[in-house]
Amino acid sequence: THFGFQTVDEADKSKKVHQVFKNVADSYDVMNDVMSCGIHRLWKDELMKTLDPSPRTRLLDVAGGTGDIAFRYLNYISDMKGDGHVTIADINGSMLEEGKKRALNLKLNQDKVSWVECDAENLPMESDSYSAYTIAFGIRNVTHIDKVLDEAYRVLEPGGRFLCLEFSQVNPTALRWLYDQYSFNVIPVMGHIVAGQWKPYQYLVESIRKFPCQEDFKYMIECAGFRCVTYTNLTFGVVAIHSGFKL
Ligand code: SAM
Repeated sequence: THFGFQTVDEADKSKKVHQVFKNVADSYDVMNDVMSCGIHRLWKDELMKTLDPSPRTRLLDVAGGTGDIAFRYLNYISDMKGDGHVTIADINGSMLEEGKKRALNLKLNQDKVSWVECDAENLPMESDSYSAYTIAFGIRNVTHIDKVLDEAYRVLEPGGRFLCLEFSQVNPTALRWLYDQYSFNVIPVMGHIVAGQWKPYQYLVESIRKFPCQEDFKYMIECAGFRCVTYTNLTFGVVAIHSGFKL
């Protein structure tokens, strides 16, 4: 059965993802801290350290949500002279609105940041127009990972870098068991207690479980055309940073 070009499952997934992030937008930042005990901040710092942007980096942060990666980038280049700029792209207007409020509160230089509501699978940006592309905790939510990777490749200029921070497969197995217990039993309960919502957090856990492991995802990035693809596990593989270059 088809719904446009998408199967019913696929259409369901994109609707569900949209609803999930619309529902959690205002509690998203607090919940990130609660569920990860603040560790997501260290993972995101590590992503920025890996990118090590220069003052001239033109960054596209896809699935940028409330701006965590973009704000780190602006902070990183704040003492450097240059025309660095970040574009935050997200499919969900509610997440972007939360991000804009945060940017105002943080008194960020608004000239250096743009907000674009769009789908990572079909970016409105021109080809070869960014020197770096980041996607943090976003690619697991899209319907077609391969289309997102193709688009990442298209919008990057030659020499540009792709970086993805995403939940991955925990090693060793003994730790995986513990992590599963925490994910399946604790996270939805916390979602219910802190944000008053169970389902979005159950979705979160299921989506992590379904995402390809480190090696499989590395292979997908290579298939999109990226070269020198590597990954680094953080916190025993709870998350991984994948990196690739358009050469
Ligand atoms: N990158 C931010 C961070 O690390 O805090 C936000 C991550 S949040 C878990 C996932 C984001 O992906 C949401 O803001 C959601 O709206 C966005 N998203 C989901 N599907 C998308 C798509 N197809 N295109 C663009 N953004 C998408």
